[in-house]
Amino acid sequence: MHSAVPRTHNVFDPEAVEPYRLSRSKLEDFMRCPRCFYLDRRLGIDTPRSPPFSLNLAVDELLKREFDRYRETRRTHPLMRRLGLSRPPFDHPELSEWRTNNIGVQHFHAATGFLVYGAIDDVWIDDHDALRVIEYKATSTTKTVTLNDDWKISYKRQVELYQWLLRRRGFKVSRTSHFIYVNALKTPPVFAGRLEFETYTLSHTGDDSWIENSLRRARACLAQPESPPPTAGCDWCRYRVEARALEAAPR
Ligand code: SF4
Repeated sequence: MHSAVPRTHNVFDPEAVEPYRLSRSKLEDFMRCPRCFYLDRRLGIDTPRSPPFSLNLAVDELLKREFDRYRETRRTHPLMRRLGLSRPPFDHPELSEWRTNNIGVQHFHAATGFLVYGAIDDVWIDDHDALRVIEYKATSTTKTVTLNDDWKISYKRQVELYQWLLRRRGFKVSRTSHFIYVNALKTPPVFAGRLEFETYTLSHTGDDSWIENSLRRARACLAQPESPPPTAGCDWCRYRVEARALEAAPR
């Protein structure tokens, strides 16, 4: 339930001198629609949210636990071998923070005053000492899972932002990142209290060149006195406009 009173915390103040915390997901909101980003971050009007995807979160947790076991015992997971990697998952004293929501990998971007952060799922290391960003995803479909759907641009931007953050922290980071994408099968004849998954290892060659300019545009968007126009083709805005017009019409 959303309150009619605007939120007062985490609201951007153009006069403030301290860093403004900007998460990876809020930058993604800006990429999708500057107006919604402005309403949320500048005016404190929360974007409507769906309930958490509990099954996806459970899969994330189990995958983390599984790869952590290989990290602790310095072994290479079979899925890593499938990708041509021979070393155990990367270990670092800050790994736990990097994976924690609202902390994550952080970088202060001086040009905008943003403290940019994002929580990673995992990080591996290849045979050239370069880090590889790992993202876990879960779905259930009868189709072959790929990264080709248009809407998965947000997944690609997600790993590119993590690559960028780790580079800003001084690490050598491979342009290649991997999605461990598990698909819950609908083919078993009975449920019997179990979901069965097939696992895809999908690779993406990242390009973080969009990030600097996007951060500057996001900063300029927040600094302006008026909210930007709606993004064309948005179903939510069409609903708002049509509902308002119908409610105002005489009966
Ligand atoms: S077009 Fe309107 S409803 Fe859609 S995302 Fe932008 S501000 Fe939000």
